[in-house]
Order: sequence, then C-alpha cells, then structure tokens
Amino acid sequence: MPKNIKSAVTYVAFALLVLGIGVYALVMNNTSVQDRLIKRGLATQLSGLVDDYGGDKIDVVFCGVASPMGGAGPRGAAQTCVAVFAGDKFFLVDTGARSADKVASLGLPVGRLNGVLLTHFHSDHIADLGEVHLNSWVRGRPEKLRVYGGPGVNKVVDGFNLAYGQDYRYRTDHHGEDYTPTAHAGLVARPIKADSVIYDEDGVTITAVTVSHPPIEPALAFRFDYGGRSVLISGDTVKDNNLIAAARNVDVLIHEVLQPDLVDTLVATLGENGQPKLAKIIEDTLDYHTTPVEAAQAANLANADLLVFYHYAPMPQNALMDRIFMRGVSDVRPEGVLGALEGTRLSLPAKNDAIKISD
Ligand SMILES: [Zn+2]
Ligand SMILES: [Zn+2]
Repeated sequence: MPKNIKSAVTYVAFALLVLGIGVYALVMNNTSVQDRLIKRGLATQLSGLVDDYGGDKIDVVFCGVASPMGGAGPRGAAQTCVAVFAGDKFFLVDTGARSADKVASLGLPVGRLNGVLLTHFHSDHIADLGEVHLNSWVRGRPEKLRVYGGPGVNKVVDGFNLAYGQDYRYRTDHHGEDYTPTAHAGLVARPIKADSVIYDEDGVTITAVTVSHPPIEPALAFRFDYGGRSVLISGDTVKDNNLIAAARNVDVLIHEVLQPDLVDTLVATLGENGQPKLAKIIEDTLDYHTTPVEAAQAANLANADLLVFYHYAPMPQNALMDRIFMRGVSDVRPEGVLGALEGTRLSLPAKNDAIKISD
C-alpha cells in the first residue's frame, strides 16, 4: 500500500476511534441522552406490539415448552404454557414457572385474558399463576381471573389467593381502585367436569378430555374448536386412547414428549456422579409420559393434520438433542411433525385448511 494511502487509513481509523470514545463518553455521562435512548427503545418495543391474535382464526402461541427437566439453556426456560386465541377469546393452558415472563416478553394481550385452563396441578403447570394474575390485572382484566380445572382446582385457587391476598391489597392501596380494582383482584375457581364441553361462547367450544398420568387425577387434555378448525393440547399423559378418540381429525395435536434415551443417559450419568436420589426421581418419570414415537403413533391414529411436540422431558437445548428427540419418528410419521419452541406461533384461519407456522 502506498505510504500516503496508508497514513490516510491510519488517520481515519484514529478519527473513528476518537469519535467512538466521544459518543461513549457522551452517553455514559449525559443523563438526558441516556433517558432519550431508553425512551426510544421502549417506544420501538411498544409500537411493535400488535394484537392480531384470534379474530376469524385460531392462534396458538407457545409461552413455555420445558418441563421440570433441564429448562435452563439457550432455547429458554419457561415451563408449560400455551396461549390459545379463538375468535375474541383468549385462554392460557397451564402457567408453569417463568411462563408469565414469556407471556410478557412476547407481548401477548393479557389484559383481555378470559381464563387459565389447568391440565393438572403439578408444579410445572401452575407455578406462575400469581404472576399471570398480576400481569393481567394491571393491564385491565375486567373480572377476577377464572381458573378452570378438575376436582382440586378450588384448593389451588384458595391457596394462591391466601398467599397473594396481601399483595392484592397492597396494590389497590398504592395505585387506587381505578387502576387495580378490588373487584377484579384474585383468582376464582371454575371446577369442570371431564369428558364434556366446559366452555361454549361466541362460537368457541372447549372440551376437557381425561388422559392418563398416574397417580395424578384428574389429568386433562383440552380441545378447542372454532370456525371449523381444531386444536387439542395433551397436558401430561402416556399415549392414551381417550385422547386419540377426542383428537379425531383434529387440525393440530399438541402433544407432550419424553425422550427415553436421553432420560436413560441422564439417569445413568447422575447415578455415576453421586446423585442417586435425583437419578431415581428422573427414572420414575419414564412411566407417565409419552415418547416422541408414541406421540407420532397417536397423531396417526387420530388422523391429525399436524403434530406439535411440547413439554419436552428433557428440554432439547441444541441440534444434537433435537436429532435424538426425532429418533424413529419419521419411520412412523414421515411428515406433519413440528417441535415447538418458546414463541412458536400457529395460525389456523376459519373455514380453511391452512396452518401458518411462524416464530
Ligand atoms: Zn408436566
Ligand atoms: Zn405432570
């Protein structure tokens, strides 16, 4: 490089470095510049929140796909939570740990949440009820938060109300009745009868389906029907004939999965590394979940259009684990299988057979 060009390049690089240091110093030391940058960032985030969920379609958004096994990692850590929008209705199916944060970061419109449906009362399905209550209350939920579940839901609701009762009062005392009204504070139990239609309003039908997750009773799946489209969410279950019958010709079957080879490896490794108690607990999970191959068989028997895996045990955090999860699946079901991650969205327009998948 000629000497004069070389010195010009050196000069420009030096000038850029000085400029960069100047901008950095300006931002780090000037409070009004800092405030303006934060305001602009927030405004960009808020203006990006568009509530185009539901309407003349069913939308499903995954706000948590992990189980108690291996949630922390690059794919996220929220335990079970599925948002379902149908017509103008919005329900969350389960609210596992960290799912409320995911609901908020996805910008889901919790101010219009019509209720939470609990498949069963394992902690990875109910842990964030308190946070979902607060987030929806401060965004204008127009009634107490309805919590639908089988026998025992009253205990869960009473327990959360007892634990959070002081919080409800603090918020109203501080922010006032206009913003955090007492009339809308708290959870209200909606006990439901399994194997029946538990909700039927404005064209949206929800059916509770008994599944098998022994010794937990009840354990439920939920089927949503709207505009000729349908989605069934398994909750926790073994491969179950009642679920398969209820999922007959469903557009989307969302099924929990446990990968037995991964669990075996986890159990052996824990045992070899001085954690026999945890190894035994994890080994016990093998008998009350469904393998990916079994879920594929269930989807075929039900004639489901699309099978979607969720509630992974353990949570696959990389491409290698993805491959292990898919072992044997394509032999049973070569097409129509999707692994959901946090933020995966499915849209099913009414009176149509399209399924749009986006992140
Ligand atoms: Zn679970
Ligand atoms: Zn469970």
